[in-house]
Amino acid sequence: MEQDCDIIIIGGGLAGLTAAVHLLQADFSVMLIEKNSYPKHKVCGEYVSNEVLPYLDALGIYPINNCAKKINRFQFSGLTGNALEIKLPLGGFGISRYALDLALYERAISLGLVFEQATATNVTFGREQFEVTTKDKSFRAPYALGAYGKRSGLDITLSRKFISTKSPWMGVKAHYAGEFPEDLVALHNFSGGYCGLSKVETDAINVCYLADVNSFKKHKDLDTYRVEVLEQNRYLKEFFAQAEPIFEKPLTISQISFQDKSAVENHLLMIGDSAGLIHPLCGNGMAMAIHSAKIASECLSNHISTSKKREQLEKEYTKQWKRTFATRMRNGALIQRGLHNATITRLGVGILQKSPRLLSSVIQSTHGNLIT
Ligand SMILES: Cc1cc2nc3c(=O)[nH]c(=O)nc-3n(C[C@H](O)[C@H](O)[C@H](O)COP(=O)(O)OP(=O)(O)OC[C@H]3O[C@@H](n4cnc5c(N)ncnc54)[C@H](O)[C@@H]3O)c2cc1C
Repeated sequence: MEQDCDIIIIGGGLAGLTAAVHLLQADFSVMLIEKNSYPKHKVCGEYVSNEVLPYLDALGIYPINNCAKKINRFQFSGLTGNALEIKLPLGGFGISRYALDLALYERAISLGLVFEQATATNVTFGREQFEVTTKDKSFRAPYALGAYGKRSGLDITLSRKFISTKSPWMGVKAHYAGEFPEDLVALHNFSGGYCGLSKVETDAINVCYLADVNSFKKHKDLDTYRVEVLEQNRYLKEFFAQAEPIFEKPLTISQISFQDKSAVENHLLMIGDSAGLIHPLCGNGMAMAIHSAKIASECLSNHISTSKKREQLEKEYTKQWKRTFATRMRNGALIQRGLHNATITRLGVGILQKSPRLLSSVIQSTHGNLIT
């Protein structure tokens, strides 16, 4: 049967682009369908765990050489600003999505990526072939990866369970100029959400928060919400008092769902947020997107070279996904629930202040090990 390439990837965020580079390096022909162009700012905390740094280097992306900030300290504060600080067990780096996604895209193009800028509207599977449809065209390949992020029209087409439930979470992000240490990532709690701060390669400070829409709705707009809610935390008040916004206005997204998803759907191997989104407070979603792309690419490469049944590929990928990510997803959800409760947060900060080692273990429980 006719095919356009070996593998079609739907969605070109971190997961899709990483898989594209990996599979192109392994000499497969790859088409990537992405609705937006590059570069583009995205709602994201922009702190990447070092878990994936050696792997990114192996893909020919060198974040540290490209001025990403090395981050090794973590500060956390509760609602009223009672704070604690530790050295991060694994550490990470600060880089904007504007720069990181672009670097991956340019690397993929240099390796021969076929890029189609369009929205995928449907994907079907039959006679061992996928057919991916956009507004004007359709493409065929024996393998396809779903890398289209947290939520997309495709989830409705695929009748995925989580899509019928509304989510109360919204995300807001903007870059600021001002004072903030280069080696620090901070997470400040406020009533109804939490806000992350860290520097990126341009020296800008990325400010990104997750908020409960119901708490946000009680306030007039983003500025009022910032003053009346975020700035109740004294660390955030001090930060905003001296910082100047770089963006004309903050970027926002809504309907951020943390529900369980399946790693394989209608024979599509799901990677990144399409397979599951960890709570952003863990600062680990990007590392998971990149790592899951690596696992799926390796499973695909092995499968194609051994020509086993497709069912075995799907089982193997699901097994490896769960083994690598299920525990950290569960721990992330538990911490998130605690953080949403003022009393638990206050008590938790008190306990953790006395035992920084315990905080280190909590962070480790939501992170993986260095990919070597
Ligand atoms: C508020 C917030 C803060 C966060 N902070 C951090 C952090 O500090 N550190 C961290 O590691 N993680 C963080 N994360 C998580 C991180 O942003 C995600 O885990 C990561 O972006 C997942 O990458 P992805 O490639 O799966 O999805 P995305 O980056 O969302 O990419 C999906 C791509 O698919 C495209 N697409 C969607 N539908 C279609 C379609 N039908 N056809 C074609 N293209 C399509 C989109 O345009 C997009 O480019 C945060 C998340 C949120 C919500």
